[in-house]
Amino acid sequence: MSHRLVVVGAGYAGLQAAKRLARLLRRHDVTITLVNASDRFVERVRLHQLAAGQSWAGGGSSLRQQLNDPTVRLVVGRVTAIDAVSRTVAVAVDTVPASIGYDTLVYALGSGARLDDVPGASVHAYAVADFGQATRLRDRVSQVMSSGGTVAVVGAGLTGLETAAELAESCPTLRVRLLTGADDVGVGLMPRARRHLRYALDRLGVSVHTKAVVAEVREDGLDTVDGVAFAAHTVVWTTGFRVPELARAAGFATDEDGRMLVDATLRSISHSDVYAVGDAAAGLSVSGAPGRMSCQSALAMGRGVAGAIAARLAGGAGEEPPPVRIGYVFTNISLGRRDGVVQFTHADDSPRRFVLTGRAAAAFKETVVRSTVRKSRGEYWGGTTCSG
Ligand SMILES: Cc1cc2nc3c(=O)[nH]c(=O)nc-3n(C[C@H](O)[C@H](O)[C@H](O)COP(=O)(O)OP(=O)(O)OC[C@H]3O[C@@H](n4cnc5c(N)ncnc54)[C@H](O)[C@@H]3O)c2cc1C
Repeated sequence: MSHRLVVVGAGYAGLQAAKRLARLLRRHDVTITLVNASDRFVERVRLHQLAAGQSWAGGGSSLRQQLNDPTVRLVVGRVTAIDAVSRTVAVAVDTVPASIGYDTLVYALGSGARLDDVPGASVHAYAVADFGQATRLRDRVSQVMSSGGTVAVVGAGLTGLETAAELAESCPTLRVRLLTGADDVGVGLMPRARRHLRYALDRLGVSVHTKAVVAEVREDGLDTVDGVAFAAHTVVWTTGFRVPELARAAGFATDEDGRMLVDATLRSISHSDVYAVGDAAAGLSVSGAPGRMSCQSALAMGRGVAGAIAARLAGGAGEEPPPVRIGYVFTNISLGRRDGVVQFTHADDSPRRFVLTGRAAAAFKETVVRSTVRKSRGEYWGGTTCSG
């Protein structure tokens, strides 16, 4: 019987893994099945653009077209459970339950918004972590824009910075506030990069509120732990990502956030027939610390896991693949369509001195994001270049 390889999740990591597995194992007796909730490849790194009304952005292209490999079976359905004993994945296909057996499983379900962080956020806040949320925010923004509404973006990590800047540039009648619990924006970047972030946000009219830790989100704004109330028509929650509970529920070893614990070849430390990649995996970067949730790591992991699995299947039980290297090249922040900051980094993600700003940075990021999608289609298989 053929060896059944099942990849769940077709984002940057899962799609990359499925395509490369198909290529590396073309002459072997394997079947490859890719399961994804939607038949579109969603460019998550553009969802803040979609939210700001650039309706062509992020919605993605046909997954089948991106896959561009008829040997991979595509199942469009939502994974509802994984049974590690019977080695089956339960999938709701058009709400009809189905079961898919596996010999090797690649877990690549990505992440979503952390909307359960504070009271009221899951009810009143908007987010940009998935296509549905970004579309909902876009619709809300177009409603409040004409009346010159206020949008409060909570969280000044990369997603918060990009979302605040994009909304301010695309919707100039909006009043955009950016709130962070930290004492500055761009923590961890070189001073020149931080200065440019401040300058660009100021130029776009984004008011930045530091040391503002949110205690509760209300229908008409939010309150901080210091008792300061901010009125807002719309609150956007960008305080980080949370991974699905499916790995923990299946009994796979996970960290406290539910990211699957894996060895240097991205294999589960508790189940040798299971691998994890992308945001849902606690893969170790070259620094020895868990990798940053990013497209940059997701692509490297997707490529690396395929190599590791292929080496084991093709080489037999005694074949130990080399460790997968998750290194970084840059942190890449767009500030609207005409401005940005690129902080070049060492492989361990610590900042180098070199920083690119302004139009050159915006053009750099756009080139990188475009090349990422082309790479997902399989046109390029070279080094890791994704917006970090
Ligand atoms: C607005 C925004 C901007 C960003 N900008 C950048 C950036 O500039 N640079 C950068 O490096 N990173 C950026 N990121 C982060 C980056 O998008 C993620 O780190 C990356 O998408 C992770 O890839 P992944 O393959 O692990 O997960 P995803 O891309 O999230 O893919 C997961 C896939 O699994 C599917 N899925 C999930 N649950 C199920 C289920 N139960 N059943 C079936 N399918 C399921 C999803 O539909 C999706 O197709 C940004 C994210 C956002 C939201």
